[in-house]
Amino acid sequence: MFENLTDKLERSFKILKGEGRITEINIAETLKEIRRALIDADVNYKVAKSFTDEVKQKALGQNVLTAVKPGQMMTKIVRDELAQLMGGTATDIRLEGTPAVILIAGLQGSGKTTFSGKLAAFLKEKKGRHVLLVAGDVYRPAAIDQLKVLGGQIGVEVYTEEGNTHPVEIAQNAIKYARQKGCNVVIVDTAGRLAVDEAMMQEITAIKAAVDPGETLFVVDAMTGQDAVNTAKEFNDRLDFDGVVLTKLDGDTRGGAAISIRSVVDKPLKFISSGEKMDALQVFHPERMADRILGMGDVVSLVERAQEQFDEAEARKLKKKLVKDQFNFNDFLAQINQIKKMGNLKDLASMIPGMGKALKGVEISDDVFKQTEAIIGSMTPAERERPEILNARRRERIAKGSGTTMADVNRLLKQFDDTRKMMKMVAGGGKMKLPQMPRGFRR
Ligand code: GDP
Repeated sequence: MFENLTDKLERSFKILKGEGRITEINIAETLKEIRRALIDADVNYKVAKSFTDEVKQKALGQNVLTAVKPGQMMTKIVRDELAQLMGGTATDIRLEGTPAVILIAGLQGSGKTTFSGKLAAFLKEKKGRHVLLVAGDVYRPAAIDQLKVLGGQIGVEVYTEEGNTHPVEIAQNAIKYARQKGCNVVIVDTAGRLAVDEAMMQEITAIKAAVDPGETLFVVDAMTGQDAVNTAKEFNDRLDFDGVVLTKLDGDTRGGAAISIRSVVDKPLKFISSGEKMDALQVFHPERMADRILGMGDVVSLVERAQEQFDEAEARKLKKKLVKDQFNFNDFLAQINQIKKMGNLKDLASMIPGMGKALKGVEISDDVFKQTEAIIGSMTPAERERPEILNARRRERIAKGSGTTMADVNRLLKQFDDTRKMMKMVAGGGKMKLPQMPRGFRR
């Protein structure tokens, strides 16, 4: 659903390719593109504008982390801000009261009845609840039948009152019935209209007042874009609901509603529904959605791990050593340790877009550094500090001491030399990169 937005955001970050650091001038174009991408995805103009203002502030306020390129840094900032915009962390559904009453509101055709069924299935299967569904749409006999069919599919009882045209009464009776039957959750599906109107609002507020639900959820069709956000606002002004459910995210939606609803209505998006099957319901996680929108959640984690391990002062010291040609085996070992601290190697590799798939079935053992560590461990302090003294006799002794061969030791020396040259080149160019991984597992 977010393909277009994902593509456009990716392109906006590419503008920063080749830049050494973030400046007000070089991010201007990127910010403009991000804003355009959001508006094209049907995000409210004001939301898009304040979003890019926020991103700009964060980007300019960032410490310059030379290990992370500006494009990557912007990706992370946009990702974090998107997650924040969508509510930060997931908000659970409240199941309070005996029984816990959940009221479902929304326009006709928004997917209320389908969602009621999905929610019943979710609470039954995932939370082990004993659920009662209530058919409160007294105007459309078809809606009652639809709920009965869904209830049959998922094995949840549906409460109906043939001939009763008072939804408030039906809801109240259903709650009494639930108590008798030992149901601990009651989901009340209500009638909707094609557009917001006074009669509908009066009815739903009357039901709410009568049954005092622990949770009122507003259901809205994501395909209606900005209208979804406006309708949510109108309902919230009258109903003061607790959360939003976005349906039909499988359809042809540009996703704008998911992004802006929280900031416009100030109520959390709790569920997203994408499909007509009863198990097609997902708890809404702002962060995961942000990852999905950017299509590169894995890189975000990778950058974060690098940031966690990255020590600015150490890096400066290292750079000095490299430039003066003093990089030695102790530094080499420290670099290996830094990589190891970032986590499991296969995990790390799979955070690079495309690598996860490419590495399917390939084993990368965390032991790849073992031999290197053993060889360095067999060196004397003098040898570690001044690798140039490693003549044939010393190498032979080291091979024996580390249980390796002369060829292994020579290979490591060559690798060390390559690493040193490469790092010196990078350091000399004014940029500091994470060390290249040793040869052993370059593919
Ligand atoms: P209600 O009038 O609000 O109760 O809406 P319904 O639950 O009857 O849904 C209206 C139509 O949308 C029906 O044809 C549903 O099958 C369909 N629908 C509901 N939820 C989804 C969804 O998440 N994805 C898709 N593709 N269709 C849905």
